[in-house]
Amino acid sequence: MRLSRHFLPVTKESPADAQIVSHKLMLRAGMIRQTAAGIYAWLPLGHRVLRKIEQIVREEQDRAGAVELLMPTLQSADLWRQSGRYDAYGPEMLRIKDRHDREILYGPTNEEMITAIFRDSARSYRDLPRTLYHIQWKFRDEVRPRFGVMRGREFLMKDAYSFDMDEAGARHSYNRMFVAYLRTYKRMGLRAIPMQADTGPIGGDLSHEFIVLAPTGESEVFYHQNWEQDRALEVDADDAVALQAFVSGLTTDYSATDEKRDEAREAAAGDALKTSRGIEVGHIFYFGTKYSAPMGLKVQGTDGSEVIPHMGSYGIGVSRLMGAIIEASHDDAGIIWPDAVAPYAVGLINMRADDARCAAASDDIYAKLQTAGVEVLYDDRDERGGAKFATMDVIGLPWQLVVGPKGLDKGVVELKRRATGEKIELSVEDAIARIV
Ligand code: ATP
Ligand code: MG
Ligand code: MG
Ligand code: MG
Repeated sequence: MRLSRHFLPVTKESPADAQIVSHKLMLRAGMIRQTAAGIYAWLPLGHRVLRKIEQIVREEQDRAGAVELLMPTLQSADLWRQSGRYDAYGPEMLRIKDRHDREILYGPTNEEMITAIFRDSARSYRDLPRTLYHIQWKFRDEVRPRFGVMRGREFLMKDAYSFDMDEAGARHSYNRMFVAYLRTYKRMGLRAIPMQADTGPIGGDLSHEFIVLAPTGESEVFYHQNWEQDRALEVDADDAVALQAFVSGLTTDYSATDEKRDEAREAAAGDALKTSRGIEVGHIFYFGTKYSAPMGLKVQGTDGSEVIPHMGSYGIGVSRLMGAIIEASHDDAGIIWPDAVAPYAVGLINMRADDARCAAASDDIYAKLQTAGVEVLYDDRDERGGAKFATMDVIGLPWQLVVGPKGLDKGVVELKRRATGEKIELSVEDAIARIV
């Protein structure tokens, strides 16, 4: 993509209304635009990153055996009356009336809808276990939307729902998601710590939140310092016993949100006990028959008896993750995207757009990178070099490839790694080989 034809409204000034660095940088990098309190338009650069994050989430859900579908954003109030949550949910739910005065709502979550969909088709034990998921916009009328996409009112969530014949099956499904979540965050360059958590309005008795440590996080968390190390995530998730042992092994190290603190375990951790602020980037629940029972989901068991399936639900804050990644990966000059979610792999900078030789060399490199399948943002604008560098630093692409007249005299270009600032001069061929 040529920057001269892009829509990338980068700004130099730090926006006054943004309180945390990720929000500031997303505005400065021209990634989002607020259109109403807690509601954002995703500008082209932000949209590219959102799609990358979403795709990693999707791949790990698929790998865990979950099946994707897409449910609507609008739901009927009657559906929520079946579970008894319509009245219980409170003012975070956006309630709307259509022209026939029928009550509808913008979904804050989808337990009711998926239970109804599954109920209408599942007949026997052969239809289970199943885990279904979608990646869809949610609306919660947050009292205080803030920190940009971190606490929006409209936000993108991946939510999965599991159906099993019994509690043991449901725990296996839960454990699959537990590991899938750790893999998902790791692929984005994030360390997220699973923490015992409160279940809130979703209900149930087994629950973990996945927390990225950050001083600006809204949760207060407590954990054993072992969680600061990388964990190997190799386990056969199809083997329920091995998987349970793996998850139990991981969670022998204490970690809890402030609602779930355990004095005895904290005392046992001693000096290794750490406290921090953190960002909730995911939350998984096992809640048994809390929705299946009142909503009449039943299937025939192996012996012909009627069984009420056990369920769990599993959320990832897809749009919030973008803020969390930036909180974890930036410097004074701007964002530093991990390769896996970067909007483009490389920024190609022509230092002298007014020089025919530089323009020809840059155009040639641009074509070669595209042929090699590299996502490249080509700054072909007639601007000062300094301004171009600043733009590239703010938007944080992993590589910068700089073409200038002095280098061309020597037959080299300059390649800069955004994360380290390391710069090397090398031939065009070698530079492309490094990036690919
Ligand atoms: P929070 O405690 O931050 O309000 P929650 O516990 O209400 O979140 P869940 O119901 O567990 O949220 O939803 C699953 C995930 O959706 C959360 O872990 C979070 O990553 C994301 N999420 C929830 N609310 C928002 C929001 N207002 N804006 C962006 N992401 C959100
Ligand atoms: Mg909430
Ligand atoms: Mg929460
Ligand atoms: Mg939660």
